[in-house]
Amino acid sequence: MIIEKVVCDCDGTLLHAPNGIVKKIGKWIAKSKIPWPIIMTGLLIINQRLDRKTAAILNLLHFSGRQVDVLSTRPEQAERYTEKCLKRQGVVFNSVKCVGSVEKKIEIIRSIGPDLIIDDDEEVVKICRQEGYNAFFPSENWVEEVIFC
Ligand SMILES: [Mg+2]
Repeated sequence: MIIEKVVCDCDGTLLHAPNGIVKKIGKWIAKSKIPWPIIMTGLLIINQRLDRKTAAILNLLHFSGRQVDVLSTRPEQAERYTEKCLKRQGVVFNSVKCVGSVEKKIEIIRSIGPDLIIDDDEEVVKICRQEGYNAFFPSENWVEEVIFC
């Protein structure tokens, strides 16, 4: 499959926090009144680990002229910090969007029309597959779908 546009999730796909802490407390954080700069500083301190395989393939795709958009359900307020964090770790992309919900994420995916979607969220992958997109969990062999030419 020739890939022109890729949408990649952030937490649990491109970044891994120790013991999946973001996944565990993510919903609580989103509802809390803690300012996002403090939350994101906390996330930096707990040292989110970059998924090197995913990042390397995304970088190759980006450098070979493909559109790579990072799309997260983190709240909008987290966008600037998420972008900074990914850039600091050497990830290159066309855009980072933090959209706050799965519904909004699906809406953006429809507007982009990607050839490949990587996401660890079962709901996102299920909906995207139902709509005919090539959606993969990061743990699946999605790299084999990517053809560089
Ligand atoms: Mg995720």
